[in-house]
Amino acid sequence: MSGDDRADGPAGADAGPLPVVAVVGRPNVGKSTLVNRIIGRRQAVVEDVPGVTRDRVAYDANWTGRAFTVVDTGGWEPDARDRAAAIAAQAEAAVATADVVVFVVDAVVGPTDVDEAAVKMLRRSAKPVLLVGNKVDNTALESEVAALWALGLGEPWPVSALHGRGSGDLLDAILAAFPAPAPAEAEGPRGPHRIALVGRPNVGKSSLLNRLAREERAVVDPVAGTTVDPVDSLVEIGGETWQLVDTAGLRKRVGRASGTEYYASLRTAAAIEAAEVAVVLLDASEPISEQDQRILSMVDEAGRAMVIAFNKWDLMDPDRRYYLDKEIDRELKRIPWALRVNISAKTGRAVDRLAPALRTALASWEQRIPTGVLNQWLTALVQETPHPVRGGRAPRVLFATQAGTRPPKFVLFTTGPIDAGYQRFVARKLREEFGFAGSPIEVAVKAKK
Ligand code: GDP
Ligand code: GDP
Repeated sequence: MSGDDRADGPAGADAGPLPVVAVVGRPNVGKSTLVNRIIGRRQAVVEDVPGVTRDRVAYDANWTGRAFTVVDTGGWEPDARDRAAAIAAQAEAAVATADVVVFVVDAVVGPTDVDEAAVKMLRRSAKPVLLVGNKVDNTALESEVAALWALGLGEPWPVSALHGRGSGDLLDAILAAFPAPAPAEAEGPRGPHRIALVGRPNVGKSSLLNRLAREERAVVDPVAGTTVDPVDSLVEIGGETWQLVDTAGLRKRVGRASGTEYYASLRTAAAIEAAEVAVVLLDASEPISEQDQRILSMVDEAGRAMVIAFNKWDLMDPDRRYYLDKEIDRELKRIPWALRVNISAKTGRAVDRLAPALRTALASWEQRIPTGVLNQWLTALVQETPHPVRGGRAPRVLFATQAGTRPPKFVLFTTGPIDAGYQRFVARKLREEFGFAGSPIEVAVKAKK
């Protein structure tokens, strides 16, 4: 895989993006109030001034255990000009990228021409639409809702976003309109975290394993109720039990004899696949080789967290040490996010720094950015550095969701296809803001067709 992040990778097979609900309607009908009601917090800003326009923002929501993303859109108006037109266009794009649309109408005012124009736009989108008659604060007002049948969107849902009336029923209906649930995100497995110790022959894998087993109170017994592959070892490192995968391969010196390199490589790939985090050993006394590069790429492509251990640091020649940082920048530029420790399996130097590095890498691998935080950051970013204009048009990034973890996967919802360069730019900025030290991240795009 080329590039520092898999900017064009898939959104992840283990968990698709959460379903997206776009809340649309003309200004002042109560969209933000309803979004606040749905997310259960006063997160969205409600302006009391009619016609005040906002940029749409996405938030995390959860109803009866089902997680989804809700997008607050600015007021939609037909024939709007300037900024209002841009906001209307964004609302339309939010509709196009959503799974379900909640169309909010002021039930007290009744259906207006603007509402009817919005219905035409919604019909074109061919998305499932739930019609909400809002501001139904009491039973007496419920009869007003019947007038909304005239919009031809089926049964209107009477709701008071302000007081919460009817919002539970509406949420049930929203969930029912979702596409079939994506398979639950791969649950964190029970038992110890799984590490692969990988690296080319003679780099010091067995020595490190022996060092860890000796210094760290030897290999420990399996935790009750967990199954440990017989080829694995459980080792205590830094006060925590870890499962080192396929240590049998290290003990038996698989791959030592000539002609078995192919099998050694398969075995390395299998160990990486089975692990959550890989410790890639490099020989600090020798230049980084192509074989080292291949192993580093395997970890990156498998989407595993990674710690690079420069072993044999005791042999580090002072001259090389002087140039090492430059060499590392050059050779490891595709994976600037990998964590580094300089160790010696022989002397025990800095071996105790492995455990903290592993913990950091795993925390990044499992990190989840709240949708509200993610989108506040993204809104500022795309405002400051919009997508470059191509052929007179500039696609817009509307909002983003984190579709999964292990490793973190993001989906950008856009008004059209975006440049690979801009996608990488967003990925790089994501890292600058949120870190993810020690973990690859994926950024995918879902464009309005
Ligand atoms: P938006 O422009 O569509 O996002 O509308 P807002 O959420 O900003 O609400 C506009 C105004 O309507 C605010 O003053 C809200 O307090 C008020 N409002 C929203 N929902 C209700 C409701 O269910 N009942 C009543 N009485 N007022 C509401
Ligand atoms: P493996 O093939 O990756 O399992 O590598 P080994 O653990 O068998 O080590 C290969 C050789 O490097 C052995 O002769 C080790 O003694 C030596 N070695 C391993 N780690 C270090 C180290 O940190 N410093 C030095 N000087 N030698 C090491």
